[in-house]
Amino acid sequence: MSFQIAIDGPAGAGKSTIAKLVAKKKGYIYVDTGAMYRAMALFMIRKNIDGNDEEAVGKECAGADIGIAYRDGEQVVLLDGENVNSIIRTEEVGNMASLTAKNPRVRERLVILQKELASRNNVVMDGRDIGTVVLPDADVKIYLTASVEVRAKRRYDEIISKGEKADLQVIEEDIRLRDKQDMEREVSPLRKAEDAIEVDSSYLTIEEVTDRILSLCDGKGNT
Ligand code: C5P
Repeated sequence: MSFQIAIDGPAGAGKSTIAKLVAKKKGYIYVDTGAMYRAMALFMIRKNIDGNDEEAVGKECAGADIGIAYRDGEQVVLLDGENVNSIIRTEEVGNMASLTAKNPRVRERLVILQKELASRNNVVMDGRDIGTVVLPDADVKIYLTASVEVRAKRRYDEIISKGEKADLQVIEEDIRLRDKQDMEREVSPLRKAEDAIEVDSSYLTIEEVTDRILSLCDGKGNT
């Protein structure tokens, strides 16, 4: 049986940074499920589909060929064979992903891929519904949160450090909207699994959060 670590939480809580570190320390693969929803969103943007048009999104998603590969330990998301890693990180794609991820047909397709990866490998998987829907029997489940203000400031600093321009207030509004959409949708909303451990990263360092998760793995006999 593979060992499964599930990390869920809202946008900007630090899931991917933490998940990558834990995966590296344990020698597991890191599965970024948000990147799959982003690749699907890019597919819809390229096809000029209105993200609010549920019928069109549901119909078109069958045509998207989304795959995952690992190169030098990094997850690579393939859309129709093209490596789209570097173009799915924009706010535009993130906001579209939050819209199209509401669609049951989109979720059905991507969840199959996620379950398959976790059945064949030891994984650290992050997303919104990993502990609740994708890996309900995961060995360790974390619900990682942080206040909206802290999450917006982290995102703002990240953009500024790349030499790009950013507006803190706009970022904060985007995050509030994404939270609302992710938590209030009908299918697989973002919520803490009953057996998940909640960790608020607002005032913890990356190392502190990582150590906490590693010690939870130790507690499961996985040292
Ligand atoms: O985590 P990230 O910000 O890359 O995810 C983009 C969007 O994809 C999220 O806002 C969410 O709507 C959706 N998503 C999801 N389920 C997941 C991972 C991401 O619905 N497991």
